[in-house]
Amino acid sequence: MSVYQHPDFDQHQMVAFKQDRASGLQAIIAVHDNNLGTATGGCRMYPYANEAAALTDVLRLSRGMTYKSALAGLPLGGGKAVIIGDPARDKTRSLLLAMGDFVDSLNGKYVTAQDSGTDAGDLAVIAERTSHVSARAGNLGADPSISTALGVFEGIRAAVKFRFGTDLQGVGVALQGLGNVGYRLARLLRAAGAEVCGADVRQDNVDRAVAELGVVARPWREILSAGVEVLAPCALGGSICAESLDRISATVIAGAANNQLATPDMDATLCERGILYAPDYVINAGGIIDVHYRGRGMTGAVLRRRYVARIGARLSEIFSRSAATGKPTGEIADRMAEAIFRAPQESDRAA
Ligand code: NAD
Repeated sequence: MSVYQHPDFDQHQMVAFKQDRASGLQAIIAVHDNNLGTATGGCRMYPYANEAAALTDVLRLSRGMTYKSALAGLPLGGGKAVIIGDPARDKTRSLLLAMGDFVDSLNGKYVTAQDSGTDAGDLAVIAERTSHVSARAGNLGADPSISTALGVFEGIRAAVKFRFGTDLQGVGVALQGLGNVGYRLARLLRAAGAEVCGADVRQDNVDRAVAELGVVARPWREILSAGVEVLAPCALGGSICAESLDRISATVIAGAANNQLATPDMDATLCERGILYAPDYVINAGGIIDVHYRGRGMTGAVLRRRYVARIGARLSEIFSRSAATGKPTGEIADRMAEAIFRAPQESDRAA
């Protein structure tokens, strides 16, 4: 398997592989770009089918972090880590300590954070071996999904305003995934008067959303075809693909999941079909904004009001530029992000 020739390599600055025989750790850290600041991104643990799948995931996620942080206005570069393994079965203290050693061995070129398959407790163990953990002691318990959900809510509001010229009252929204973000998003949408239906492969998550928020439950295999205005993918990536597209009747796609489009060409396809797509890394930036500013001592309430709330305005600008040029929203967002993270920095000019 060639790393340099990998279709998702995209000029990564560094890809590091680790095998620790004693703990069984197999992990990859990818640093995509550090022009704006230290490469920062979560540490995901997932039972990848093979190392090729893990490599593809870490490359795509790390690149996405560069674009996400740039458009969110953060002084951070893009990086990501993946641990190959089942978090429910393979996660041990010695494995997490070995991961801490791996992060530390890069001498601060990559700063890690929580991601799917790792929690605040895991990050605390990793932090026993490295200081390169983005939310430090005292902040490790904060849950960034509250800010992620708020950013997605603001994004949906902006998209509905742009597409239909209305607020959210009576607008139908289908949530694919009612986990950390989906549940909180459903609460915000219901409070704004939206009609919310949702699905999850976990019945306990469905029951909670139905009982506490009045969400209408749908079978998870049918959620994409719900007759609603807005589809919000909040489960795993890749749900928008050529096969699923024909089942989608929503004319707005705006949700929390990373890498929602299974293939890059879906961006143009959605545009051609008149579906307004909120680029995933723009709308779901609330989590990294939260982690960054919390690490600087800001409270959740303040950082959400000052920074997360801006996500709606940023998306409105992307939608307007897309409408004016006929170019897909994802392409517009990419060019805007590249103009930011590829621009010469003060430190370059001084050199
Ligand atoms: P989560 O694991 O808490 O929730 C995801 C939910 O989706 C789970 O309840 C799971 O059972 C469900 N699910 C899985 N496959 C499904 C399917 N086929 N149909 C319906 N439901 C399904 O994760 P989360 O923290 O809520 O994150 C949701 C998404 O948002 C992920 O893609 C994550 O990468 C992304 N994201 C999260 C954050 C954050 O702050 N948590 C930040 C940025 C992006």
